[in-house]
Amino acid sequence: MATAKAAKKGARRAPARKQQAFDAIIVGAGFSGLYQLHCLRDRLDLSAVVLEAGDGVGGTWYWNLYPGARCDSESHSYCFTFDDKLLSEWQWSERYPGHAEVRRYLDHVADRFDLKRSIRFGTRVTGATYDEAANRWQVTTEGGDKLTAKFLITAVGCLSTANVPAIPGLHSFKGRWVHTGQWPHEGVDFTGKRVGQIGTGSTGIQSAPVIAETAKHLTVFQRTANYSVPARNAPLTPEFRHYLRENYPELVRIMRKTPNGHPFVIERRLVADVTPVERQAIYEAAWEKGGLQFRATFHDLLLDKAANDTAAEFIKNKIRTIVKDKATAEKLADIDHPYAAKRPPIDTDYFEAFNRDNVTLVDVRADPIEAITPGGLRTRSGKEYPLDIIVFATGFDAMTGPLLALNIRGREGLALADAWKAGPRNYLGLQVAGFPNLFTITGPGSPSVLCNMPVAIEQHVEWITDCIAEMRAKRLQRIETTDAAMDGWVQEVNRAANATLLPQAHHSWYLGANVPGKPRVFMPYAGGMARYRDLCAGIAARGYEGFVLS
Ligand SMILES: Cc1cc2nc3c(=O)[nH]c(=O)nc-3n(C[C@H](O)[C@H](O)[C@H](O)COP(=O)(O)OP(=O)(O)OC[C@H]3O[C@@H](n4cnc5c(N)ncnc54)[C@H](O)[C@@H]3O)c2cc1C
Repeated sequence: MATAKAAKKGARRAPARKQQAFDAIIVGAGFSGLYQLHCLRDRLDLSAVVLEAGDGVGGTWYWNLYPGARCDSESHSYCFTFDDKLLSEWQWSERYPGHAEVRRYLDHVADRFDLKRSIRFGTRVTGATYDEAANRWQVTTEGGDKLTAKFLITAVGCLSTANVPAIPGLHSFKGRWVHTGQWPHEGVDFTGKRVGQIGTGSTGIQSAPVIAETAKHLTVFQRTANYSVPARNAPLTPEFRHYLRENYPELVRIMRKTPNGHPFVIERRLVADVTPVERQAIYEAAWEKGGLQFRATFHDLLLDKAANDTAAEFIKNKIRTIVKDKATAEKLADIDHPYAAKRPPIDTDYFEAFNRDNVTLVDVRADPIEAITPGGLRTRSGKEYPLDIIVFATGFDAMTGPLLALNIRGREGLALADAWKAGPRNYLGLQVAGFPNLFTITGPGSPSVLCNMPVAIEQHVEWITDCIAEMRAKRLQRIETTDAAMDGWVQEVNRAANATLLPQAHHSWYLGANVPGKPRVFMPYAGGMARYRDLCAGIAARGYEGFVLS
């Protein structure tokens, strides 16, 4: 009796054998992975698991906890729209939610749809190989787990591989350094510290004014001067909440119909349609309203350089008006690319921060960073900057980085890294020839980062879900795109990019230019989300044109 009891107790203590074979493995538990799990597990009744490197849900909003980290999409549009109840029950507090609030939202979504029981946290995928004979993906993790699935779906995000520049001497630095995309969850105390921030993209523009509030001194090292428009963040008023309740269906319709997935319409008028006085008034009004809507003031801002110049000049003049020190203002306004050809930041008091006594701007295009020293940083002219903390706001190995880090191998051992040696090549940003039953949510070649991303993510996830459902209904086992379809799509991605001013920002991460050695290929699809949605729907309706199903 006693022995049986002990045996029973022992059995209870033995670790439960984890299921290792699934219909689908999803990598990543941000917006993409959560919704894909819900669709496959709860709508199609497939066995599905999410493998996530972090210890919680949120993706971007789990890792990017730097001071000032905040959404640039307006809160009421930066959310899922697939469930009316979810949409109406969640109340955002501000026009642009901070990182903690977005993470709370995604945690709420995960709990509401009971998703966490199908997510393995602290599990980094290090390899994925297609077993042709079994028609299954074999996935390995850093912890040594081996799992298999018929479908492998990457939900690894476009901006989840931190890019720390290889500056000589970093290892010798006696202070502390942090990358904004891997921010310590316990925070970083800047009180009384000399801080150096490297990078002035969207992130650097958000973090600098907040770091300056507590640091003894902040030195911002700027290589590429950047435009920014005020966010005009504020708490949501009861009137606005009422407006949302009344108008959500219409706003969702707009988000799905506009090229960039935002809840505002891009004006049809051209810059040349109005007089210079009217144009100035339009820009002033947009500046006062704040936010990404500034880009929507004219139809041709991203299509015609002369039109773009008018917006660029307006913002440069604003910088010169805000920043009191003339030399600093000129460095900040010395912008070498068209407005919005790089990801256009919005800010809260970024340019104003340079009026503080404890903030200095260093132009590292004129005097490049040469080395990090034990005590700080040295530029080519020999000037030393003593620092206690270095903040790398240097962005990500965008779009391809997280996919290549999975070490994916397809048919006959073909490595994705080899297939993409000259840059990403795929069909619709969704599939690569030689990699059957692998889908890449918001992969390169899809609108992704040029769009309000939850809109792009919902479209991809639903397309993949419908495709798998149809395969199941027709008892098909395999879907794979073709070389010819990829060639056609790469041409379309290039055509769409070249019809805009976007490729003119030569140093942009859209082109992979921020990572040394990365092939220069314009990665996102610039043809617009609405057009892309129609293309994908048409392809599915015509029996998955460009794919081979068997
Ligand atoms: C600071 C910042 C601000 C942003 N602001 C906006 C905004 O205002 N509007 C907008 O539309 N978009 C914004 N974005 C883009 C943002 O990434 C997307 O909106 C969205 O969060 C992407 O969701 P996702 O699930 O596709 O990817 P992510 O949120 O990046 O999630 C991917 C997940 O995959 C996991 N993962 C990656 N590799 C592995 C692996 N090998 N093994 C296991 N897990 C892995 C990561 O840990 C991560 O949790 C912002 C991005 C950043 C960095």
